[in-house]
Amino acid sequence: MSNEPSASGTVRVRLRNPDRTVEAPAPCTVGELLDGLDLLPHTVLVIHEAQLLTADRLLLPATEVEVRPVISGGADGAPRCAVCRAPAVHEEPRHRAAWCSTHLADHVHNQIRKAIDRPPDRPTGERMFHYGQRLLVAVSGGKDSLALWDALLAMGYDVDGLYVGLGIGGYSSRSQRVCEAFATARGLTLHVVDLAERYGYSTPSGSDATGRSTCGVCGLSKRYVFDQVAVEQDYDVLLTGHNLDDEAATLLGNVLRWNEGFLARQRPVLAARAVNQRRKCKPMFRLSERESAAYCVVRGIDYVVEECPLVDGNTGHELKAALDLLEAASPGLKAQFVFGFLERVADRFVDQDDAGVQRELRACASCAMPTTTDTCAFCRQREAILAVLPLATSGVRT
Ligand code: AMP
Ligand code: ZN
Repeated sequence: MSNEPSASGTVRVRLRNPDRTVEAPAPCTVGELLDGLDLLPHTVLVIHEAQLLTADRLLLPATEVEVRPVISGGADGAPRCAVCRAPAVHEEPRHRAAWCSTHLADHVHNQIRKAIDRPPDRPTGERMFHYGQRLLVAVSGGKDSLALWDALLAMGYDVDGLYVGLGIGGYSSRSQRVCEAFATARGLTLHVVDLAERYGYSTPSGSDATGRSTCGVCGLSKRYVFDQVAVEQDYDVLLTGHNLDDEAATLLGNVLRWNEGFLARQRPVLAARAVNQRRKCKPMFRLSERESAAYCVVRGIDYVVEECPLVDGNTGHELKAALDLLEAASPGLKAQFVFGFLERVADRFVDQDDAGVQRELRACASCAMPTTTDTCAFCRQREAILAVLPLATSGVRT
């Protein structure tokens, strides 16, 4: 172990396979350290100056420890489940662990439970939501939101679904069918809102009409419909399936551009601040895309594997690819990036205007949903689209 002094306020942790060193906030117990690093205590040994440490041992700033993996493959070298030692079906380098199907599902439930029970950026003791509250999960037909709906039901929560039809041809109709099949098979309530039917435009036509990017039109419209349906149908909390990879890519994009307003709002829990606003939570933020896809497979959940055909040019994909490269070299880096931001720095960003005043919410003059301007961004966008849409759709506009 190196004798170089650590920065004060941190423990220096040597990790293996691949060999690397990370800093973790101190003082903390060994158990808290492993929890922060997302490691299962029974899969590692924690060593300090050739002595083994138990979970209750306190680590002071500037201590150096080694975290050594102890679970190796079975006699045939194949990975075994970290819990029951049966042949594993899924390995997760970040946790230095592998699981059989049953224990992979347990692991996913545990991560969601931890996200709900202890959101990192909320006061201690505050949960994302409670049993007995009415929850609405926005389901796209993709793996993350359906995995979330399934997991919450398995944990005994009362959750309905919301699918928003964005009018993206066969992709949207296939996604809707998958969500409807999921709900019907389980006897669940799914609200379906079609953007064109209810608001007079679809993602492609709205983009054609205004020249705005399809992702821009889609994102603003979806978020608005989620909020509006949650309010109209009187749900307590709105949930989305954003996962760790989504959050890491968004965070990197916001940091690279120093989008302080976005950094202020990039949280797994956004409290309701106005009358027509509901609490919004992302209970999947601790799970990677691979984990949520593997969960769907082992739970027999049919989801839409194809990507939206309109994502071309969406920089989110490049950011994800860059982070994947870094994660491969240093498993756990994405989690450290996102969780470290939430635990240590997120508070420093405040949603404020150019004069440094925190933005106040008021009711949109047109639709009464909360906004910081007279008319909300959705109503302004919709007005701009509908002003030219009849021309665009009749083919007069080229
Ligand atoms: P995306 O913005 O496509 O990365 O999706 C993020 C989350 O938004 C998903 O996990 C869903 O919870 C939700 N979502 C995306 N598209 C839809 C949709 N068409 N209808 C309902 N929810 C959606
Ligand atoms: Zn409005």
